Amino acid sequence: MIRREFIKSSALVSLGISLSNCDTEKTPITHYLSFSFDDGFLKSFNRAAEIHEEYGLKGCFNVIATAHLPSFRQVGDYIIPDLMGSFNDWNRLVSKGHEVMPHTWEHLRLTEIPLSQAKKNIDKCLDYFEQNLDGYNSANAVYNYAYNASNDELDAHTLQRVRTIRTGGWLVIEDDKIVNPIPTSPETNKLGCWADGPGLCDNYIQETVNDFLKGDGGWLILNLHGFDDEGWGPVSTNYYDNLLKRLVEIKSLKVLPVGEVLKISA
Ligand SMILES: [Zn+2]
Repeated sequence: MIRREFIKSSALVSLGISLSNCDTEKTPITHYLSFSFDDGFLKSFNRAAEIHEEYGLKGCFNVIATAHLPSFRQVGDYIIPDLMGSFNDWNRLVSKGHEVMPHTWEHLRLTEIPLSQAKKNIDKCLDYFEQNLDGYNSANAVYNYAYNASNDELDAHTLQRVRTIRTGGWLVIEDDKIVNPIPTSPETNKLGCWADGPGLCDNYIQETVNDFLKGDGGWLILNLHGFDDEGWGPVSTNYYDNLLKRLVEIKSLKVLPVGEVLKISA
């Protein structure tokens, strides 16, 4: 330490101010992490919102347009009408600053139905969001495919209306990587995510996040559903709470909803 710095440091220490508190150098953000919750389980989404709020974070929630309507039928073993929230619930989450984005009209696997029907499903979903979700604008939206199933024709159609699509990481991320590039231009329009199920995904999340943090950085999007006993590949409430508690202490990392990460390139 040169003498001038020593004198400055000594003066600060004598004032009871620690050097680390005076460090105005900001750690660069090298890692972005989004936990992208799908489907719209009311109990789990409310709890997830509370946990995010506890750590000053915003949740990233993607919901089914029609799951609260009487016409909605159960999808597979996990998407059960009685468990799903309504747009009153989603507007409440939006009012608290959380991100709510379109997941699907009725949760069909769009790559396995006629293209014209798939396009209509996407349009109906986006129309419903425009009419029912406060502050929503498709031009800024992220469309999150059900089952992370899409193809180039569907993407081209959806991207006429939305900012970005989120689909399977295996479809859009190259070279055995798991991270998306950190968006540096507004052109970023296809994002890949990863998920694990149908059982508890705590171990998968732990390993994937630890590997990600050890790596050079980028943007990891992990697709979650519900907590504990809700949804495909649920995460334990306590595990998720402790995970966020740990992650918010890492200065080179930001945990953000997908739409918020996109804003850094705007
Ligand atoms: Zn889904």
